[in-house]
Amino acid sequence: MIDMNVFRAFGEAITHLPEMAKPMPMSDAERVERAKAVMRRKMDRSLALDLESCVHCGYCSEACHFYQATSDDKYTPSRKLDLLRRVHARETSAFAPLKRLFVKDITNEELLEAQELCFDSCTECGRCSMVCPMGINTARGVNIMREALYEAGLAPLELTAVAQEQQEQGTVFGVGTRELLQAIEQVRTQGIPVPLDEPKADIMVVSTVIDVLLFQDALAATARVLNHLGRSWTIRSAGFEAANFGLLSGNEALQKEASRRIITEAIAIGAKEVILPECGHSYPALRWEAVMDDGSPLPFDVLAISEFIGREVQAGRLALKPSQDGSLVTYHDACKLARHGGVVQEPRAALRAAGVHLLDTSPTAEHNWCCGGGAGAFLINRAAGLRHKAWEIKKAQIEATGAASVVVSCGSCRLNLMAGAQADAWPIAIDSLVEVVARQLPAEKQ
Ligand code: SF4
Ligand code: SF4
Repeated sequence: MIDMNVFRAFGEAITHLPEMAKPMPMSDAERVERAKAVMRRKMDRSLALDLESCVHCGYCSEACHFYQATSDDKYTPSRKLDLLRRVHARETSAFAPLKRLFVKDITNEELLEAQELCFDSCTECGRCSMVCPMGINTARGVNIMREALYEAGLAPLELTAVAQEQQEQGTVFGVGTRELLQAIEQVRTQGIPVPLDEPKADIMVVSTVIDVLLFQDALAATARVLNHLGRSWTIRSAGFEAANFGLLSGNEALQKEASRRIITEAIAIGAKEVILPECGHSYPALRWEAVMDDGSPLPFDVLAISEFIGREVQAGRLALKPSQDGSLVTYHDACKLARHGGVVQEPRAALRAAGVHLLDTSPTAEHNWCCGGGAGAFLINRAAGLRHKAWEIKKAQIEATGAASVVVSCGSCRLNLMAGAQADAWPIAIDSLVEVVARQLPAEKQ
């Protein structure tokens, strides 16, 4: 059960984030130079190809929820890479000396405009790439733009504040080891064992600030599932935070450090698998972006909790007691899991095993519409109106299924859906996949 007072207090805390950001003073010229230095450093063959191959067909606009919701040309996905394209033309392309004659240099004012385009109005959902005839990876380009903007001190203040906190104090929204221990004690008072700081385990479970603060039932449900399976697992207090505000803000040093904290603990206990909580962006952060210091792959598998549960069901190792309530349910595919990660069948296998009468959205799976609040957009105060417009696409899509509830496997999607539901007095219940599964565990093994 979610404490709505805590949800409201969390929303109130977000409004104060800008006051907490420490300024990054520098001249306009320095901001431009620092941003361009990042763009040049990140200009590999695949990015250069993406920048050069756009045929300006506009198909990506139709796929982007922010363009769809506003019909505003500035939200055309390909335009989000215009500054990168110009820096490439002038400085790193084959005919750069010639192109400098007619392609203008970028300015500080244009970087300021890019902040809204690359943070508020891009959730790095990747939907535009699904329709692009040239296969252009706009989300990756936007992520590089975020790094350039952070380096220029031009990331949104909300994301800057949390990134600075995570980098300097190791906490996120004030949640550190002490708050994790309190949450675990709460779960243990329900009679649910939670192995903490075990020296060896096959599975390391990672939690997140959102579960500690708001969705403790998801933490309890994860523990119940793993206990039921009889697996050797633990949470490590020195590497429990899945949220990576380095990835979200564009602070690359923090991105690596936040992943390193998890990797160090997983290696220390000899983990074969690291299971991430219901937190969409933590999946690309650890599964694709993170590597060992020498560049080699991580020595363990990284799985989202929905993916892990689905695989256990598919392999016949997890049998559930099917629900008899007969209510109609739909599933919201989180962009980072389904579109980017291909985690489509696993959550559905888990829900079917739980006896859920599943109604798919249209479009669905990797073509599903984004919730509108991913990649940190949920925290940007000035973007609330734009997010709400994007949410209306999502809302209509869910309502069209006729379902009485929507199940999610990403805490950020869950928050965004809850915010939309609160604003619109929306009657459709919002549920968590891991909690649905835990409710259907056979009683004798709970
Ligand atoms: S769909 Fe691809 S090629 Fe067409 S405008 Fe968008 S990014 Fe460019
Ligand atoms: S990645 Fe998603 S939000 Fe960003 S431009 Fe493409 S469709 Fe729009």
